[in-house]
Amino acid sequence: MARRLRETGRLDEVVRTCIGCRQRADKTTLVRVVAVQGPTTTVVTPDPHGTLPGRGAHLHPTHRCLELATRRKAFGRALRVEGPLDLDALASVVEDPKDTA
Ligand SMILES: [Zn+2]
Repeated sequence: MARRLRETGRLDEVVRTCIGCRQRADKTTLVRVVAVQGPTTTVVTPDPHGTLPGRGAHLHPTHRCLELATRRKAFGRALRVEGPLDLDALASVVEDPKDTA
């Protein structure tokens, strides 16, 4: 017998998958990024307020997840863009590097 879901209809717990570590996390702990087409590159732009149009991807604002996402080319896949990506704008939203590994 399936138990009935107790909290159907709740909209305040939105879960997204981080494109870096692939962990599911509450949307509020992730930063949304969107692809903004520049003249020669696609600029991956942080969208902390979720107001920019277009296809978004979600990422933990940490160097680790940024590095993981970069290494597995997750931005291009998640944002459905090809060609060079400019990730410089993301540096402003990720944590300071911590060399713990
Ligand atoms: Zn992550």
